[in-house]
Amino acid sequence: MANKRPKNCIRISILGFPIDVCKDVLFEAIKLHADGGGQIVTLNVEMIMEAKENNELSDAIRNANLVIPDGAGVVWALSRQTRNVFKSPGIELAKALLIHAECHGWQVALVGSTPHVMNQLKNNLLQEMPKLKISMAIHGYQNNDSWQRLEKALKKSSPDLVLVALGTPNQEIWSWKARSGTSGIWMGVGGSFDVWSGAKKRAPNWMLKLHVEWLYRLIKEPKRWRRMLSLPAFVLEVFRSSPNHQER
Ligand code: UDP
Repeated sequence: MANKRPKNCIRISILGFPIDVCKDVLFEAIKLHADGGGQIVTLNVEMIMEAKENNELSDAIRNANLVIPDGAGVVWALSRQTRNVFKSPGIELAKALLIHAECHGWQVALVGSTPHVMNQLKNNLLQEMPKLKISMAIHGYQNNDSWQRLEKALKKSSPDLVLVALGTPNQEIWSWKARSGTSGIWMGVGGSFDVWSGAKKRAPNWMLKLHVEWLYRLIKEPKRWRRMLSLPAFVLEVFRSSPNHQER
């Protein structure tokens, strides 16, 4: 399963981590489902820098079937190597997959976020997509015993789409381990459940257009500042690793 790669995308390496540059990520995700499923990772700079120190996260990224660029820093690094790179926000791909799931009768499992957010999320999604089949809805604050039981139940119910909001790196690592032997699409969605439930707001459109969604999140959640420090280190490493730099 780990070798299934999107055929219509160019796979590029940034600091040793794969990223797929695709014309249509939704098409590739649906194709992945048709080909027997796999994991989608939405990669940003913080994840790359963390994966350099975290072997489990590194394995999850390297073994993912589709890795999409979800951040201005990653798009910048890619655009040094190839043209026509666009940011593919995970929250938008996940919503498009839910719409597809409703239209095609896919079974959907939702994992993560607080119990309150999960309840509100289910209500909101079913109001927006009344035919959506939510086969499991598991909040993200379970004890260890419950996780084991729920992972078994999840495998047994074999959903077509599993959206996982446990935060990075847990959601990528957990999905990588839990999905083994399953046939659906597994995708980490970070704070998407908080946004869809109405608990948090996404950045305004003008900020999305200027590619400064990260700044909005930093203002709203100042505790994220430490994570942002990875950006200058990333830029420096990308410059250092570029062929031009090595020739000098
Ligand atoms: N979360 C969870 N269980 C945990 C820790 C976090 O379900 O043990 C959820 C949290 O409630 C939130 C999401 O994971 O809905 C993390 O969102 P965040 O925006 O922090 O994602 P990140 O930027 O880390 O990917």
